[in-house]
Amino acid sequence: MHVPAPAEVGISLDEVDTPALIVDLDAFEKNLDHMALLAKKAGVLLRPHAKAHKSAAIAQQQIERGAVGVCAQKVSEAEALVNAGIQNVLISNEIVGAKKVDRLVDLSRRATISVCVDHIEQVRQLSFAAQREGTEVSVLIEVNVGGDRCGVLPGQPALALAQAIDDAPGLRFSGLQAYHNNAQHTRLYVERGDATASAIEKASATATLLGQHGLPCEVITGAGTGTFTFEANSGIYDELQVGSYIFMDADYAQNLDRSGEPVSEFQHSLFVYTTVMSVPSSTKAVVDAGIKSMSFECGFPRVHQASGIEYVGRADEHGVLEIDQQVATVNLGDKLLLIPGHCDPTVNLHEWFVGVRDNKVEAVWPIDARGMIF
Ligand SMILES: *Cc1c(COP(=O)(O)O)cnc(C)c1O
Repeated sequence: MHVPAPAEVGISLDEVDTPALIVDLDAFEKNLDHMALLAKKAGVLLRPHAKAHKSAAIAQQQIERGAVGVCAQKVSEAEALVNAGIQNVLISNEIVGAKKVDRLVDLSRRATISVCVDHIEQVRQLSFAAQREGTEVSVLIEVNVGGDRCGVLPGQPALALAQAIDDAPGLRFSGLQAYHNNAQHTRLYVERGDATASAIEKASATATLLGQHGLPCEVITGAGTGTFTFEANSGIYDELQVGSYIFMDADYAQNLDRSGEPVSEFQHSLFVYTTVMSVPSSTKAVVDAGIKSMSFECGFPRVHQASGIEYVGRADEHGVLEIDQQVATVNLGDKLLLIPGHCDPTVNLHEWFVGVRDNKVEAVWPIDARGMIF
């Protein structure tokens, strides 16, 4: 059951109710096209991470531009995407417990599904459920290539796990996931490059070892918006799992490129639209978008194309703006676009994307997997 959309196709931007999640369609499509072109040029496949958008309508546009499928982080997220018509999903995460594993195996009968493991017990649970259902599940080993989140250590521990998958009835070993989560937001280009070079080396050495033992990796998958250039040109990775590039949040905008400038390859396309609902003084205004409209763990949002206006304070349903009177005035009822600090958890707070071009609402897309965190 969806909450009503804050807009209908055909109305103008300033008629959209607030807070609303706006997608600038020109910028968004440029981002999609640009990444598709870069992947094609580098000769790697795209499997964009759908945790950024949780929307079949957007996944479909990525697939139309050549993506082989998408990633999801949770079984329920994958279910929502499959139910809305997406046919190929990698659950780029570890799944534990009979209930989730049963749902995953069930889903793999309806779509092309693969999943990551980093422990023999996950292998046992998946194999048990797959055998019982008389089906086969594709399994990738997640290798810890430096991010120190999930993943087995490269080399021997990965080999032992690959042999266990190979021996397990109902499972098919299909390769490695080597995603360096920490490197994505490392600000300096050289440091991102160094961290990723080390990840590439670990993925490569592990794949070689497995190959020597008769377990070739069909696919090596990984990379995010901060590092994908390195993985794409490594000659080792087959698939890129980039997610945030479609929207570019305020946090990603702080990464620096090769020449030390803020990255500019992708444009901000995701905004939280908000209304000024109170003007307590000439230097202060209050908007209607706070913690329930966007996530703050990566800092305050930036006010889009408005110099002299800063978002400086937050509450559940309030945002406090500081106004530099020399440059800006803000009136009751004004509407502003905010660039959220972190796109993924912000999207998860909304039910609808409102796609806008030339100040007109052109599309309203449901966020199918909103709340699908289980
Ligand atoms: C989040 C995530 C990505 C995508 O990262 P972005 O920084 O959003 O591009 C890719 N792979 C995995 C496993 C992730 O968790």
